[in-house]
Amino acid sequence: MTTTNAPSAVPVSRPFSLWDMACRQLDAVAARMQLDPGTLARLRQCQRTLVVSIPVRMDDGHVEVFEGYRVQHNSERGPTKGGVRYHPGVTLDEVKALAMLMTWKCAVVGLPYGGAKGGVVCDPTRMSMGEIERVTRRYTSEISIILGPNKDIPAPDVNTNPQVMAWMMDTYSMTVGYSVPGVVTGKPVEIGGSLGRLDATGRSVATVTLAAAERLGLHPAQSTAAIQGFGNVGSAAARHLHAKGVKIVAVTDAYGGLFNPRGIDVAALHEHVRGPGGAGTLQGFQGADYDPDPVAANARLLASDADILVPCALENQLTAANAEAVRAKIVVEGANGPTTPEADAILLGKDVTIVPDILANAGGVTVSYFEWVQDLQANFWDESEINRSLDRIMLRSFHDVCDVAARERCDLRTAAQILAVSRVAKASRLRGIYP
Ligand code: GLU
Repeated sequence: MTTTNAPSAVPVSRPFSLWDMACRQLDAVAARMQLDPGTLARLRQCQRTLVVSIPVRMDDGHVEVFEGYRVQHNSERGPTKGGVRYHPGVTLDEVKALAMLMTWKCAVVGLPYGGAKGGVVCDPTRMSMGEIERVTRRYTSEISIILGPNKDIPAPDVNTNPQVMAWMMDTYSMTVGYSVPGVVTGKPVEIGGSLGRLDATGRSVATVTLAAAERLGLHPAQSTAAIQGFGNVGSAAARHLHAKGVKIVAVTDAYGGLFNPRGIDVAALHEHVRGPGGAGTLQGFQGADYDPDPVAANARLLASDADILVPCALENQLTAANAEAVRAKIVVEGANGPTTPEADAILLGKDVTIVPDILANAGGVTVSYFEWVQDLQANFWDESEINRSLDRIMLRSFHDVCDVAARERCDLRTAAQILAVSRVAKASRLRGIYP
């Protein structure tokens, strides 16, 4: 699993665009695979891009107009699938890139989906529940022309949650005149959501982390981990790793960070941040040193001497500016796109094993797939069956990717992309070009 093809020179850093990064990664694997130019040209474009304006009456009576996007990158392997994020920094380029990553992610783990993504430029931390609901309903109504259980199925992503999915499902259902639970996943279980979905992404991150550690001869009980982000993904990854004996020595969020070389009590931290009436942030937690400066805390976390580094926040976190300082042996990407290509090259040059996003965090969309299947059949599974199936798919996919890496003598990101692109390209060839 070590790197045998690290570039000899680190590429020069330039202004960050996730879309650029996704295209550069695709170009590199396409060249390596000798993908035919016609297929590459198709995969380099998004199949369908919808930009909508979302007028909303705010609580104080004034009208604000938000911009929203839904991008379907490729539907060659099935209906498109992917989350919706609410964030002030959302751009169309970012959503396009995340849609492309979803195509690869679904293909790596073998789900019968293509990739999509949605986003609304807004800051939900400054909005009331009523305002978030109205943004959600109008956004859903605007994009409903391209949604449907057989067309495109949204799910939660950054700053969206089961309640937002419930509003999306309700809005779509009201429009067509009957309940359509299969139009979104990540819903509350009471309206057709799946058991195990909330923890699924973090659980898959932990599963592949332990598999990667085992390959490097690291025993969980003797390993330490640093987790960037304590949202849905980071908190679940921390809990699942902790349950297997891994000591969590550093955690950060958007406001600061906690550090304790003797290990953080993750269950207590989860209660503190995310339990009923929880603080919503790490601040105020006893049992670790708190650094209230988020920039300094994140720099300290990324350079910590933990064996395993798990970025579970946003993209563009490991960059040319800080990758040299990383001391972890394994980086597992809970977030989408946390490592820039420059940082990737630096880390590979330092022999760091990187388990890429399209593999590591695929547990979320995998249990979304289980949810969709359950909704379509109106037949629900118990949680142990869901977790067993998820773990089986994650371990099988991890080993598939390792096999490609060994055969192609490449790193795991390149291997995961080769696997994904070859599956999508095969579907594309079989279906041909219409008309
Ligand atoms: N937003 C998640 C992701 O990036 C989940 C997508 C889904 O479940 O469709 O993988």
